[in-house]
Amino acid sequence: MSFQLNEKILADVAGMHEELLDLIKELCGVTAPSNHEEKRAAFCKAWFDQNGVPGAVIDDADNVVLPWKTEGKNELAVIMAHTDTVFPDTEPMPLREEKGRLYSPGVGDDTANLALLMLIARYVVKNNFTPDYGILFVCNSGEEGLGNLRGSRKICETYGKQMKYFISFDGTYEGCYNYSVGSARYKVTIKTEGGHSFSNFGNRNAIACMSSLINALYGLKVPEGGKTTYNVGSISGGTSVNTIAQNAEMLFEYRSDVREHLDAMMGLFETMTSAYRQMGITVDTEIMGLRPCMGDVDKDLQSAYERKVADAAALYTGKAPEFHSGSTDCNIPFSIGVPSVSIGGYVGDGAHTREEWIDIESLKKGFPLLTALVLEFFRQSEKGLFV
Ligand SMILES: [Zn+2]
Repeated sequence: MSFQLNEKILADVAGMHEELLDLIKELCGVTAPSNHEEKRAAFCKAWFDQNGVPGAVIDDADNVVLPWKTEGKNELAVIMAHTDTVFPDTEPMPLREEKGRLYSPGVGDDTANLALLMLIARYVVKNNFTPDYGILFVCNSGEEGLGNLRGSRKICETYGKQMKYFISFDGTYEGCYNYSVGSARYKVTIKTEGGHSFSNFGNRNAIACMSSLINALYGLKVPEGGKTTYNVGSISGGTSVNTIAQNAEMLFEYRSDVREHLDAMMGLFETMTSAYRQMGITVDTEIMGLRPCMGDVDKDLQSAYERKVADAAALYTGKAPEFHSGSTDCNIPFSIGVPSVSIGGYVGDGAHTREEWIDIESLKKGFPLLTALVLEFFRQSEKGLFV
């Protein structure tokens, strides 16, 4: 099966390179911290409206959803790129072009891919291409840490039963996520009576209790098979040097690529924290994030889909991507059995840092690659897209 797009499409895509670059720069100026993507969502919707792409709506998870020829179709292909970045900034962040690179926090993850999705969606609509499945283009919220996959969750809740394929434009074209790492993230708060360090000596100290709990959690053996990890990421608490600490707080997480193992660790966590409660200590646990592991995905459909992505990437970029497991927007569709992949349209480095950059020339390979992956969902109904 060839992924070689016809000459006209390749020329059209090449002709949009400058526009793509301008759109990436413009989007970089519209900040979108996880859980505060409103501004960027409004920008994307307005851009569709002003570019002759009607029908985009913002849902209550701040996803911008653009359905394309979904009427009468029982099966959907969902194509997403996330709007949020890991940066809390609400003022535009620095952007500079230097020696063929574009630098800005979030420029690659996921702004470049978002701009690609928008231009490809417009191209499909302008050409009135007829898809084999109903198509949902989604500029989605909440992919990064505290977003807890809010946007992807909402799409799967709403359309899950109809979803046949799912692709997220995320990261570079050198890597492709094809397997879920699930995670459970907790905030744990411990409260004790505390008191004066000298006159109330003997009262329980929340920091000491937290240390003991951390030690106990670190004493647990992870199950064998797959990879299961845990981590205490931050601790805080106490009042002063001469106060028996009354409160302590920590952030703790488990990760696993095996569903049963993640469940087992979560069970042990419950047992352990309730043992501390039985000692008369107030232990509050709050789940900050829960990302599911793999569900029952049809292995043949999934590997056939991965093969297509590998072949298309090899054609346009010269190399098939490396396949990885990870925690991405695909976790949610995977958990309900939908074949999914996550791949991007550029190369660059420094994702999640303020030094992030993308290689501008690489977009000339990534743009036709992602276009081909979208038009793959149109192959049967629109003859001649591929040569
Ligand atoms: Zn991302």
